[in-house]
Amino acid sequence: MEDYDVIVVGAGISGLLSALTLSKHGNKVLVLEKSKFVGGNCNSYVVDGFQVDTGAHAITHLEVGPLRRLMDNYFDYLPVFEDYGNYYVRTEDNFMKVPSNVKEFVTFDVLPRKDRIVLTQAITKALTLSTFGNDLSKESVYEFMPANLTADTYDFIDTICHFLSGKDMKQTSAQRILAGSSFVRDSVPEEQLESILKHNEKISAEPVPKTLLPPNLNISLQTKMNKVSTPFSSLGRLATNKVNYSQGYPRKGLKSILNAVLFSLPSTVEIKTDCEVKKIISEKGKVIGVEADEVYRADKVIYTGFVSELPHMVESLPNTYVQDLKKIAHTNSLTIWTGLDSLMDEFNYIGSEIWFKDSPYWAMPISNYDTSLAPKGKQLIGFSFIINDNESEEVQVKKAYETIYKAIPGIEDHIEMTHNQITVPEKAAVTIDGYFSDVRTPIKGLYAAGTDTDKRSMGITRAAYSVVELLKKMNEDNCLHK
Ligand SMILES: Cc1cc2nc3c(=O)[nH]c(=O)nc-3n(C[C@H](O)[C@H](O)[C@H](O)COP(=O)(O)OP(=O)(O)OC[C@H]3O[C@@H](n4cnc5c(N)ncnc54)[C@H](O)[C@@H]3O)c2cc1C
Repeated sequence: MEDYDVIVVGAGISGLLSALTLSKHGNKVLVLEKSKFVGGNCNSYVVDGFQVDTGAHAITHLEVGPLRRLMDNYFDYLPVFEDYGNYYVRTEDNFMKVPSNVKEFVTFDVLPRKDRIVLTQAITKALTLSTFGNDLSKESVYEFMPANLTADTYDFIDTICHFLSGKDMKQTSAQRILAGSSFVRDSVPEEQLESILKHNEKISAEPVPKTLLPPNLNISLQTKMNKVSTPFSSLGRLATNKVNYSQGYPRKGLKSILNAVLFSLPSTVEIKTDCEVKKIISEKGKVIGVEADEVYRADKVIYTGFVSELPHMVESLPNTYVQDLKKIAHTNSLTIWTGLDSLMDEFNYIGSEIWFKDSPYWAMPISNYDTSLAPKGKQLIGFSFIINDNESEEVQVKKAYETIYKAIPGIEDHIEMTHNQITVPEKAAVTIDGYFSDVRTPIKGLYAAGTDTDKRSMGITRAAYSVVELLKKMNEDNCLHK
């Protein structure tokens, strides 16, 4: 007899969202997490009085995206989101808003005028193709680039590519840029969840909560969302800049998303930390349990670690599946958190900035959203860099600090805390030939969820996409509801 209906391997945001949704469909769930803490990359902690997140985060597609749908239908407690603000570019002698439409692009003099004109044509071409239904996921950004651009322009585009896909413009797909920069919208229509939720009557223990989101949203973000109810076409958006951005930063830090999920978990979910799953056990092609500190039995297992690790944990996977998983690519990131002894004028904005020279970074002064993240009168900035395997970590960390000192002259005199994090932001990079695994695996009852099972959007939004897909597939397989 099974101990549990479902075992979830991993207590990152994908695992916890899986546990929450599956338990709300009546399943008794066990979550096993190898580290001492739950949350994975979705967490915050205090260093010398400053509350840092695991990487600088912008939470995207909060209006109609997958996280919104999961929050609407499954959460009992909701995080509060602050309006994200703007994206800026910093150079040695300039600080400008990143253009989000053609009109702004014309005056974006961080890049030479000639480059801006030909680039506008290239963007319009890509958007037109995409609007008319062409799939640009196998075409690289490089292929869309006009010839003879200046080195600065190439560096700028390469930086955007690195932060959206983790790879350079030759490996990043044009589709990724359009989606990542919100020119192409992603959404999960409520109807998509209908077939899953129509069985709700069967859930007796915990009713699926009604939409609680609007009263919990920060007022400015709420106003923005209310103003624009129908999404603009991507071309319309490019021309008019009538954007219904719905990006936010969670008040009280990234951990408030984690807390909202944890508080919403019913008592039918059990979590064990410090408990690594070493083996996923199957019999005659069907999953029957996992081996960790002891053997736990269930006929449904959701794996949310790196899918590329599955062949080490599951016996007799088909060779073609194993070979496909080897094609998954990912990137490492370095985040340097700096706690400043006072508020610097350079960071007097809400949003984030990019620096595209030397070692490019993406930086966010997160204490500007919520002053409680830094001691009174102090400021907390996260600088995220992509790091590669060709150079030692030590050298890259050193270069990253040099870049910060060069970009923000005088910052050294104000730094009273630094903290470095080296992490994998997403378990699969969206490159033109990068591979993503399916939510279903060749073993019956064994499913995978996380950022290497869905290529839409990024980060936490992508994790939420993968969970929506998991629910859909389990529903099709008649094993979602208990
Ligand atoms: C620098 C940085 C910047 C980012 N910026 C953004 C952003 O702006 N916006 C955004 O939305 N997202 C962003 N992200 C990404 C986002 O944080 C992650 O994509 C998301 O948290 C991944 O969640 P996950 O559950 O899929 O994976 P993880 O967080 O990796 O969780 C997987 C969990 O499974 C556990 N595990 C693995 N194997 C086993 C095993 N065998 N047994 C037991 N447990 C196991 C791990 O310990 C881990 O806790 C960023 C991440 C970083 C690092």
